[in-house]
This record gives sequence, structure tokens and C-alpha cells, in this order.
Amino acid sequence: AFGYNQAVQENRNLYNMLQELRGNIRVFCRIRPPLHSESISSIEHVGNDGSVMVCDPVKLQNTCKIFQFNKVFGPTTTQDEVYKETQPLIRSVMDGYNVCIFAYGQTGSGKTHTMCGPSGGLPKDFGINYMALNDLFNISTSRADVKYDIRVQMVEIYNEQVRDLLSEDTTSTKLDIRTSSNKGLLNLPDAKICQVQSPSDVINLMQLGEKHRASSSTAMNHRSSRSHSILTVLVNGKDIAGNVNRSSLHLVDLAGSERVDMSEATGERLKEAQHINKSLSCLGDVINALAQKNSHIPYRNSKLTQLLQSSLGGNAKTLIFAHISPEAESYAETLSTLKFAQRASTVELGTAHANKESSEIRELKEQVDTLKKALASKE
Ligand code: ADP
Ligand code: MG
Repeated sequence: AFGYNQAVQENRNLYNMLQELRGNIRVFCRIRPPLHSESISSIEHVGNDGSVMVCDPVKLQNTCKIFQFNKVFGPTTTQDEVYKETQPLIRSVMDGYNVCIFAYGQTGSGKTHTMCGPSGGLPKDFGINYMALNDLFNISTSRADVKYDIRVQMVEIYNEQVRDLLSEDTTSTKLDIRTSSNKGLLNLPDAKICQVQSPSDVINLMQLGEKHRASSSTAMNHRSSRSHSILTVLVNGKDIAGNVNRSSLHLVDLAGSERVDMSEATGERLKEAQHINKSLSCLGDVINALAQKNSHIPYRNSKLTQLLQSSLGGNAKTLIFAHISPEAESYAETLSTLKFAQRASTVELGTAHANKESSEIRELKEQVDTLKKALASKE
């Protein structure tokens, strides 16, 4: 007979093994609550198995599509509930994994809400950025065997130019990306690095970053939807024997994925739209190439993928939050977001080792079931 703790630990190990086998790209879908109670929804059904069904609000019949993800968060899901599902991934940063979390979706679908929380919100509404750092702190102070050092960088990419959001020197607009092959992790050596020692340090830095982002443009909302913002957490762990463990966490609030009518856009708007289209499609290409285990991964085709190179692929773990708006008028964009996300999550199943992996996964699932039964009989 085995004890409760042991069973829980075994279950956890199996869960981790399953995650490893499943590949490294996970997709969570989050549905924003309707902004007006009277709006007609294009989302018909949210399953608790990670499925979501959307229906063409105009044509009504026979036009429903079902998409399957690792998780789907309905409109009433709280920030805490979302974080709880993200936590294991965040925590793996402390074990030396590089992790990248993206918020994808059209403008207004809730990307910033998920990553930062509502602006001016109370701490309980904080998004993943704050909760992740807070969590990493707690772990770092609870581990006596490893000494951790946590540092933060914050940049935005606008029109293929990288800008430091933590530097007081607002003239340092263009930062160079240096891609180091040795997982050095410091792709932006010239960006300001801030040591953080407490959750309040984090809040101060985030506010500073937001302020710099806002002051760069009179139309702050427009700009924030047209640029990618990246919060990078660099973790350095040193154990008693002197072994050093380096890893990084990238938290990325992407530019709005909506298609801009190129025939109508001109000047600055056209340029922005072209840059966004390019970087988001490059991100998709990199993810697909990684999932298919191609020998050439086209990182260098955009600033975004170049910057994230050491945290995409290899033993890095990637999570994409696909955000969708429920309103009928967003249907076309909702469909396009779901298709992008579906591609990212399913291509990996087509790897060369798919058969072997799926039989291993089946075996592990059986073991998990056996353990669950054993647990249930103890209660
Ligand atoms: P995006 O960053 O994708 O453009 P925002 O995060 O700014 O979108 O969200 C648009 C609006 O919807 C904001 O007013 C935000 O507070 C609200 N909102 C988004 N997601 C949620 C949610 N899950 N619950 C409540 N309000 C939300
Ligand atoms: Mg936003």
C-alpha cells in the first residue's frame, strides 16, 4: 500500500512526463465576457474538456465549428483561476526551463487583461505578469539549498524597432538584438536590467514601464495595440555545490492580430499593419517549424522571433493564450484567432515520433488512471 503523499507525487511525475511527451506548445483559449449584456454571441458552447464551439451568427444553421485546446476559459473565469493553470509552467522556470507565454488575439479581446490586469486594478485583479513574479519570489525565498537572483527587462517592439521601457533615457530607442547560440539568454545586452527583491519592486517597475510606454505617444491605446510588449524575467540559481542554473521567462503581450484593410490604410497605419502581419506570421512559421522539428527554424525573419530565439524550441516551453471576443461582429476575427491557435497546438502531433509517443502517452494515461483509483479507494 502506498501513502497519499507518495501517490500525489507519482501522479505529479506522470503528469510531468505526459506534458513532456505531448510536446512543448500548449494553447489555452480565453473568452472575454461580453461588453454589453444585449450583444449577440458567436460562441455557443464551452466544454470543460478544452473545447469551444463557435457559430456563424448570421447564417445560423450548419456553420458551427468546434476547436480543441489544452484548456478553454469561459467568460466568468477569474484571474486567479487562469493563473492556477499557468503556475506549473511558470514554476518550471525555477528548474531551469525557458518559458515563453504569449497573449494573442484581436484588439479588445482581453490580452492586456490577462497579462497585466485592468489598469488601476486592485492587486487581486493583477494578471499573469505580477502573479508570476510574485510566485518566483516565494519559491526563491523558500529554497534554502539554492540561491536565486531574479532580474527583469521590459521592452516593446514597434515597427520592427526594439525600445527599452525601463530606461530613463528615452533617446535609447533602438536596441540591438544579439543572438547567442549558447543559451546565454541575454539577447538584449543593452537593455536595462533591474534587480528585483520584492513584489513591490515588481509593481514599481511595471508602472515605470507602462509610463514610458504611454509617454511615447499621445494615442497610447492605439500604440499599445500596435506594438508587442515583452517582460523578460531572468533567473539565476546557484546551489551549494556552486552549480549555476540560468533560465528565462518571457511574458509577451502581442500586437492586435486583426487584419487591417490594406486598401484603406495609408502612411503610418499601413506601415504598422505590414510590420504586425509580418511578425505574427513569422511567429506562426517558427512555431510550425519547431513543431515539425525542421532543421531550419526561421527565427531571423522578425525582431520578435529573433528576440525570443533562446526561449522558443529546445527544451523551452511555450504557452499561447488565444483570446477571443464573444460579440457577433467579431466572428471573423474570432475564427481567425482560433485557427491560428489550432495550428499551433495540433501540428506537433504530426512529428516523426507521433506513433511511438501516442502509445507511450496511452500507457502513461493508464497508469494515471490506476493511481487515481488507488487514491479514491483510500478516501
Ligand atoms: P486587448 O489588450 O486585447 O486589446 P484588453 O485587455 O484591453 O484587450 O480588454 C479590452 C476591454 O475588455 C478592457 O476594458 C478590459 O478591462 C475588458 N476585459 C478584457 N478581458 C476581460 C475579462 N476576462 N473580464 C473582464 N473584463 C475584461
Ligand atoms: Mg492590450
